[in-house]
Amino acid sequence: MNETTLSSGFDAIPQAILDKLTRFDMPAVRGIDASEQTMEVAGVTVPVYQCESLVLGSGAAGMRATVELQRRGVDVLVASTGLFAGTSACSGSDKQTLYTASTDYKGDNFVKYAQSLCSGGAMDFSTAYVEAVGSIDAMGGLQYMGLPLPHDDQGAILRYQTDHDEAGRATSCGPRTSKLMVKVLFEEALTLGVRILPSCSGIQIVKETVDGAERVCGLIALHREEKRNDYGLIFIRCEDLIIATGGPGELYRDSVYPHHCHGGLGLALEAGVELCNVTESQFGIGTPRTNFPWNLSGTYVQVMPRIYSVDAEGNEIHFLKRFYRTTREMVSNTFRKGYQWPYHSTRMLDYGSSLLDLAVFLEQQAGRKVYLDFLRNPEPVNEGDDFSLDNLDPDVREYLENNEALQELPIDRLRRMNPLAIELYRMHGSDLAAEPLEFAMNNQHMNGGILIDDWGRTSLAGCYAIGEAAGSHGVTRPGGAALNSGQVFGKRVALAIKRARDGKTNTVADAAVVSGAIEGTLKDADRFVSGGSVRKPKVVKTEIQARMSDNAGIICTADEVKSALEAATALRCEVEAEGLQVSSASMVGQAFRWRHMAWVSEAVLTALDYYISAGGGSRGARAICSEDGTRCPDAKVEDLSRFNFIEEQAKDREEKLIVSRVEEGLQVSALPVDLTPEVQREFFEKGWGSYLIKEG
Ligand SMILES: Cc1cc2nc3c(=O)[nH]c(=O)nc-3n(C[C@H](O)[C@H](O)[C@H](O)COP(=O)(O)OP(=O)(O)OC[C@H]3O[C@@H](n4cnc5c(N)ncnc54)[C@H](O)[C@@H]3O)c2cc1C
Repeated sequence: MNETTLSSGFDAIPQAILDKLTRFDMPAVRGIDASEQTMEVAGVTVPVYQCESLVLGSGAAGMRATVELQRRGVDVLVASTGLFAGTSACSGSDKQTLYTASTDYKGDNFVKYAQSLCSGGAMDFSTAYVEAVGSIDAMGGLQYMGLPLPHDDQGAILRYQTDHDEAGRATSCGPRTSKLMVKVLFEEALTLGVRILPSCSGIQIVKETVDGAERVCGLIALHREEKRNDYGLIFIRCEDLIIATGGPGELYRDSVYPHHCHGGLGLALEAGVELCNVTESQFGIGTPRTNFPWNLSGTYVQVMPRIYSVDAEGNEIHFLKRFYRTTREMVSNTFRKGYQWPYHSTRMLDYGSSLLDLAVFLEQQAGRKVYLDFLRNPEPVNEGDDFSLDNLDPDVREYLENNEALQELPIDRLRRMNPLAIELYRMHGSDLAAEPLEFAMNNQHMNGGILIDDWGRTSLAGCYAIGEAAGSHGVTRPGGAALNSGQVFGKRVALAIKRARDGKTNTVADAAVVSGAIEGTLKDADRFVSGGSVRKPKVVKTEIQARMSDNAGIICTADEVKSALEAATALRCEVEAEGLQVSSASMVGQAFRWRHMAWVSEAVLTALDYYISAGGGSRGARAICSEDGTRCPDAKVEDLSRFNFIEEQAKDREEKLIVSRVEEGLQVSALPVDLTPEVQREFFEKGWGSYLIKEG
């Protein structure tokens, strides 16, 4: 493409070029042959697989760890429920974002970058710094593997500003950045000859005691292709396990995750692995899962489509006019959802952009469907106060001017700024140029997860967690930091494992421990099939998802969280004691997954209840509403006094909340974090020597 074509924007780009970023094939993957090694447990033949490092999950994080491990000569096996399932392969937004140190203009400042990652609290500065410096290599590695990140002729990657991003460190390959990441990582893995076990779900971590301390020795999994026993049960013997199973997207009814994202937090909790910051999630506007789940940040809202709801009688309601005072205020805040995408309680104040989130949430609660219409400009808030591109807040007008996007209609502005955004919906059955798009407030991402240190190590020796499974983020995170974190920690776990393994020979797992664990799992599976319980996974799913969306969404109260926790604990105890009921052996995976999810839901509510009971205020994704609250959003005519909320306490930023499994359930404790922006400077000759020794 020449400079003339570039300067005339998207209008001149041939469709075939755009298609490469949205309509591309994933590589064909051939799974490994069935293992011939088996063991007999309670009269059942159980196939056994062996590897040094087992990567569980094949999203962008898991595949980065895989490639980095294989390159370092570690014998790695990837086992995954769906090779191209999960959020990396199936989610995105108008410009799905990767947040890395900027190579733009005068370069970046890693300390400032790290500060922006941990500024919301509950995250150590050291972790943030590791992600900041590691981002250069994370991005460079992906570029080397073929990720088409846009850059200028000097080689600087093109940037823009995203959520919680003061410096403009965001970049993107378009709506499908993370799918393209998975693609290039898989291609690399295949070139390197990595062993892959598709259609394989981990259901139980097996531990043994070595020198008085517990460590991982393998994983019990269900393999859909396996026919040597009724359940497809296999055992994978490994020295190290990397949990890269993504986030618990199935936790909420109102969710923009793709279907079947269960994550690995329940698997970890059952094995006694500690979780952290599970109170912290992101909620925002997106298309519902019943259609095509997709995030609606960036240009989708920056073009300021008309927003309205429809009641049961089919009447169109201009609900935002009850919230904002002028048309300019309403549309400028619609625009700001582009880079202030996640809901935040304080942005409900002063007629800010999360007042829009609250308004949408209330329409949903009232049973009305909400739409974006790209064919019509916004309706006026007051009579005579018509929408005009000449009457916008200065930042909004400047952005549209800079992007030459002052066309008459939202669809034309979108076509000008980001035709891929239109293309993506067209591919999934919605033509934004022909009909309005239904949307809703949804759960999208969990910032918390499995507690890790700065090498991705969990509280269980030999067990690592990366990507969305890991609780590496604090309360807030810039958009794109999730994908970066998965890449950085994907490499760091490989380094840590290589260093820890060098010179060591593989151990032999304690056969009695392994048989005992498998026998226990087989008994659970038998019980699920023989109908010991009346509860079916589907019923448990509906109950958990409704409880989480209704009581642990963007608006919470102490009482509602407490009673939700009581119900969640009762459900988990019942599921533990009586199991679940499935109709056939091939369905036991559902039962194990929903037993895990019962734990995860209880863990989130336990942490939330602990936080609120200790006086914790509104932060991150949630407003903690109470009569004792000191802040209250205002609206033009709507009475919002019931959303009086408690402010965040500064002291809460200084700790992570840890959820651990104890004898009878779960317990929460606080772990102090160090937010001091200090970096230990290393000197070359001194540091070089110690590096060479560590690398071996
Ligand atoms: C709509 C949407 C938009 C987003 N936009 C952005 C963005 O712009 N920037 C950003 O940084 N982040 C974004 N995120 C978040 C980001 O996409 C995810 O955090 C990230 O892709 C997670 O990658 P992962 O590799 O950890 O997990 P995933 O990509 O979810 O992969 C998990 C893998 O684990 C497998 N698996 C799950 N359980 C098991 C099991 N028990 N056994 C075996 N395998 C298992 C799955 O099949 C899958 O292969 C977005 C998320 C959504 C939903």
